[in-house]
Amino acid sequence: MSLKPRPRPSRRPLGRRKAALLASAVSVCLLAAAAPAEPLGVGDRLYPYLGNPGYDVTAYDLSFTYSGANDKPLRAVTTIDAHTTTALDRVNLDFAHGKVESVEVNGRPAAFTGAGEDLVVTPEHRLPKGRWMRITVKHTSDPVAAKDQDGGWVRTADGLAMANQADAAHLVFPCNDHPSDKARFTIRITAPNGYTAVANGVPLGSERVGAATTWTYRTLHPMATELAQVSIGRSAVLHRQGPHGLPVRDVVPSADRKALEPWLAKTPDQIAWMESKVGDFPFETYGVLMAQADTGFELETQTLSLFEKDLFGDPAYPSWYLDSIMVHELSHQWFGDSVSPRTWSDVWLNEGHATWYESLYSEEKAHRPMVDRMKAAYGASDRWRAAGGPPGMPKPPQPGEKISIFRPNIYDGAALLLYALRQEIGRDAFERLERLWVREHRDSTATTADFVRLASAVAGRDLNGFFHDWLYGEKTPPMPGHPDWKSVAQGKAPQLRIPK
Ligand SMILES: [Zn+2]
Repeated sequence: MSLKPRPRPSRRPLGRRKAALLASAVSVCLLAAAAPAEPLGVGDRLYPYLGNPGYDVTAYDLSFTYSGANDKPLRAVTTIDAHTTTALDRVNLDFAHGKVESVEVNGRPAAFTGAGEDLVVTPEHRLPKGRWMRITVKHTSDPVAAKDQDGGWVRTADGLAMANQADAAHLVFPCNDHPSDKARFTIRITAPNGYTAVANGVPLGSERVGAATTWTYRTLHPMATELAQVSIGRSAVLHRQGPHGLPVRDVVPSADRKALEPWLAKTPDQIAWMESKVGDFPFETYGVLMAQADTGFELETQTLSLFEKDLFGDPAYPSWYLDSIMVHELSHQWFGDSVSPRTWSDVWLNEGHATWYESLYSEEKAHRPMVDRMKAAYGASDRWRAAGGPPGMPKPPQPGEKISIFRPNIYDGAALLLYALRQEIGRDAFERLERLWVREHRDSTATTADFVRLASAVAGRDLNGFFHDWLYGEKTPPMPGHPDWKSVAQGKAPQLRIPK
């Protein structure tokens, strides 16, 4: 995600009451029958109620039927294939913004109820550990946000797009809404003829029946729920070739295709540049979705990054800046999408790296030296740490704060950490580490500890002390090689990310 440097409405955290896991191993059936359904989570420090224990999703099949009005609920069927990792009397799914009509487990009707932001499903019979299960939920998916909820569907001028990061996929479809449980996705969208629907991955075809067309897409790589994308609009889909034949497809409002073409034409070279830094593009396709929407951010949805169309052509944003934001979302395809954070406290691995390549691109292509940006970031870093926590231990989302956990401490604050690391271990080792990181953890999830381990292995020495200070220190450690860099008192630091 990259944030546009201007105010936007606050995004409130999602309120949930605390829940306790059933502790007793005795009389499980009696307890299960008697105890009220309660919301569960996988124990994420920042989002305690995201995800659910007891199963591992392998595939989602999402079907949406769009009426043509983006303020009306879509009809939807979500089918989840999963393996149980423990015996389950109930299965908790995350789902908080739609009406559930029916639930089946393995083809049999199942009872269901809501608890907090969970949909709690009780199958006819207890599900043993280590078994495959299929859950089918018929529901609606409401594109109009409820009070205190933000994210999920984005209403555009001509239809819908999606922005689920970090905790909003379950406002769109029932799921195990945590990046630690990635899965394959098949996404079908039925829309009135005249609309074009596009989703993550490759097209499997479209079928026109009467007044509506159904479009089907499939991801060829596992994906986190937060990275799902569905675009429905009066759109043109433009195809071109990326490096070594990579299919590139962009989705833009039909009326704007000519005006946006100079921007779209940049993507193949940007991919080639990223490949020269870290290795092959990790997915089956790439492209940008330029939507007529006012989100206040751009988002790295897998294989199809979301941008606000109006950024391009706005004289407030010079082209070098927009280029760097395009590269920011592109680099997330490696850092954040292919290699996903195991927990949301690892999000600095996403944003630190995306900011790094955004800055490196500006240095190499627009003569804006990274060292200047990093010196400015150093000046502000202590304040960012005080406001948002150190990069490795971000503060939880707070009421009234912008965009949940996405604060400067995990953007330029974390890129500064990577700069310190490059200063510490040298350019060759740093570049080797970056390539190894995305290769070793491709299509998977990884932790901060994994990064520290790999960096130490590449450098040939224990970097735990170095990382501890930079990741978790209240104050920014001295910058290796720049002993003169100092924290700057409030008001004196250059304001970052405002384009000039
Ligand atoms: Zn980002």
